[in-house]
Amino acid sequence: MFHEFRIGAMQATIVSDGPLSLPAATKIFKGTTIESIDAALTEAGLPDDRVQVEQNCLLLETGGKRALFDNGLGSQKLYGSDSGKLLGSLRQAGIDPASIDALVLTHAHSDHCWGTMGDDGTPNFPNATLYLAQEELDFWTSDPPSERLERSVAGFEKHILPLRDRIRFIRDGEEFLPGVQAWLTPGHTPGHMAYLFDGGWCLIGDVAFHDPLSYRFPEAESLFDTDRTIGIATRRRVLDRLANDRLSIVGYHQPWPGLGRVERAGTSFRWVADGAAAR
Ligand SMILES: [Zn+2]
Repeated sequence: MFHEFRIGAMQATIVSDGPLSLPAATKIFKGTTIESIDAALTEAGLPDDRVQVEQNCLLLETGGKRALFDNGLGSQKLYGSDSGKLLGSLRQAGIDPASIDALVLTHAHSDHCWGTMGDDGTPNFPNATLYLAQEELDFWTSDPPSERLERSVAGFEKHILPLRDRIRFIRDGEEFLPGVQAWLTPGHTPGHMAYLFDGGWCLIGDVAFHDPLSYRFPEAESLFDTDRTIGIATRRRVLDRLANDRLSIVGYHQPWPGLGRVERAGTSFRWVADGAAAR
C-alpha cells in the first residue's frame, strides 16, 4: 500500500509496513482514568480491548537522494500478522530497495528499524547510509539499559550494529539532507528524533502515536516511553509547536496514510487527518 504526495517541492510517498495490534489502551496509557480513556475510544468509534496503529514509512526524494524514514517491523510478527509489508509496498510503488540512499531512523524500537536486515542477515537496503542520533546508539549499547528492553537490544544488535561503519550520526538542529532538519525529541527513547521539512512539515515519530489518545491526554504516561516524565514534557512541547506553527504532519502510527495536523482542543489537542476538515 502506498500514497504519493508532496512535501514542499519534494516528491514524497507513504509506504505501509501494515498495522500493529497492541494491548488495550488502558494498559498503555497511565495517569488518566480508565473511564476517560474508554469514553474517548467510544467517541472515536474504536474498540477498548486492543489498540491498532498503522506503520506509515515515508519515502522522500530530496537533492537527488532517496531517503526512507523508518522501515517497519520486518518479518517478526510481534504485534499480529498484518505487519512486514514494507518491501511489498515499495515494490507496488515501483521503488527498488537498492535505489534508496538514506535510511533515516526516528528511534530504534522494533517497529521502526527491524526492516533494516533481511532474515538471512544481509541488508534490505544495500546502498543506504544509516542516519540516527548518537544518543540512540549509546542507549541501546549501554550495559544493559534494562532487562525489559532485552528484546529491543537484541534487535539493535541484529539490525543496526552490523552497519556500524555506515552510520552517519545526526545532531539536534542539523540539516543533514537538503530540506530535512533533525529535531531531538527525547523521552520515548533517549535519542528519539522528529524531522522538520522545508515547506512547513514535521515527521513526529512516536512522540504522539495514537489518535485520539496521545492528543487528548498528552500528560498521560506511555508504557512505551523509556523515560515517561521526559516523554510527557517532550510531547507537550512538540504538540504545542505543531499547533502554533500549523505544521503539516507525517504520523508514523496515525490512521493511514498518516497525514494531518494538530489542533488545540481546550487544554489538550486533537489530530485532524488531511481532508477531514472539508467533511
Ligand atoms: Zn512505534
